[in-house]
Amino acid sequence: MNRKVRVRFAPSPTGPLHIGGVRTALYNYLFARKNGGDMILRIEDTDSNRFVPGAEEYINDSLAWLGITIDEGVKEGGNYGPYKQSQRRDIYRQYVKMLLDNGKAYIAFDTPAELEAKRAEVPNFQYDASTRMSMRNSLTLPKEEVDKLIADGHQYVVRFKIEPGVDVEVDDLLRGKVTINSSVLDDKVLYKSADDLPTYHLANIVDDHLMEVSHVIRGEEWLPSAPLHVLLYDAFGWSDTAPQFVHLPLLLKPDGKGKLSKRDGDRLGFPVFPLEWHPEGGEISSGYRESGYLPEAVVNFLALLGWNPGDDTEIMSMDELISKFDFAHCSRSGAKFDYEKGRWFNHEYLQKMPDAELAVLFKPVLAAHGVDVDGYSDEFLAKVVGLVKGRIYFVKDLWDHAKFFFVAPDEYNPKDIKKRWSEDTPRIMTELIEVLNGMDDFSSAAAEPVVLGWIADKGYHLGNVMNAFRLAVVGECKGPHMFDITELLGKEETVKRIQRAIKEIAI
Ligand code: GLU
Repeated sequence: MNRKVRVRFAPSPTGPLHIGGVRTALYNYLFARKNGGDMILRIEDTDSNRFVPGAEEYINDSLAWLGITIDEGVKEGGNYGPYKQSQRRDIYRQYVKMLLDNGKAYIAFDTPAELEAKRAEVPNFQYDASTRMSMRNSLTLPKEEVDKLIADGHQYVVRFKIEPGVDVEVDDLLRGKVTINSSVLDDKVLYKSADDLPTYHLANIVDDHLMEVSHVIRGEEWLPSAPLHVLLYDAFGWSDTAPQFVHLPLLLKPDGKGKLSKRDGDRLGFPVFPLEWHPEGGEISSGYRESGYLPEAVVNFLALLGWNPGDDTEIMSMDELISKFDFAHCSRSGAKFDYEKGRWFNHEYLQKMPDAELAVLFKPVLAAHGVDVDGYSDEFLAKVVGLVKGRIYFVKDLWDHAKFFFVAPDEYNPKDIKKRWSEDTPRIMTELIEVLNGMDDFSSAAAEPVVLGWIADKGYHLGNVMNAFRLAVVGECKGPHMFDITELLGKEETVKRIQRAIKEIAI
């Protein structure tokens, strides 16, 4: 059947969106865009006990930051709304009634204490075909009593009446056909009178049906729910239009041993959330955005955790990902969360960024270090950034590699002094000052042959002289090409720094 591709990302607002959830959203988005389909954002907030304030906004902000745009949702609107499950009570009530009316579900009054007692009495108790007839429900109680209990305000749940001994087939695009026997399933609660809301299972499939979802793309942790969902579609008579399941592989710990958790991030020092999360009165969790990642790098990194384009291309923009995405190249096995690779992607994206753009991002970092940013031209900043960006993983790293462009060294690396600064050095540096002062053109290209010529004429040791020069100007023996540095600093500042080093460095 050829139906319009309609996918949904259906998070529950129970806390900050985990990076694994972000990857699920991304794959839904890539698949929708690739196929000219619709991307729905549905908020699954039927579990009022687990509702966390701010979580919905966090989901919206995260997706917006990453460039995952939504076609239909709470904010966006659409023809299939409302898109928040707590606003769809009237709809669910009708469908619960439908199942009750056609005998596919029943009402159960067992209190938590009664269930607890039953569990203590019967080993491995499960509410199912083998036990339901010994419980307090509409299958065992006379109709008048059921009506009276409800009229008297007793709380109840509606349970799905699962036929035992039926082979249920789940057809998953990545895993093929998986068959399980219905006898292992329990009579799942579909609705709770206490809050007049359905549980996840009922709301999820009613909405997928009503919203004409064509593909349910979600994390592997939902695979165990799939047989129940297949039976529910069947109970409603919707099997012919049931969506195609795609259960994505888990994100694994960096060492591949088990599921990625927040604790792995804390232990190894990487974020597991897209944005910083500030729980009410709780500890702040770090986010990719605040840690200095570019959204494009995060998207690219996540896209390759469980999918590849069929060759070894790694750097891909969102448009390229969309055009290449397909489930044929999705893996079934878990993807190790290689956060070093995430850093590498960020490094690569920073290299691709034009220097002028990177310079704009560098300005707040400079200001935070007390630099009067307005004292420098955009051109100067872009050149500085261009010289050092090859060494950075994050924008904030620019400071470590470029601070000497803005502040003269006030100390000199002791190891470098020991290696490169000898008794003779002050005399040679004084000569160097003369050579530099004698130049008209202080550009890198012009200064380099003059200085190197002088070193050769005098028979000095090239490495020692150039390193002493660098130590005086930079404060240590590393950094970009020396004459590129001096060109940007200018003659006056370069000479001043050498004079100062001659005075300061005592051997
Ligand atoms: N509300 C579920 C979640 O929080 C959705 C699972 C699904 O996509 O069916 O992930």
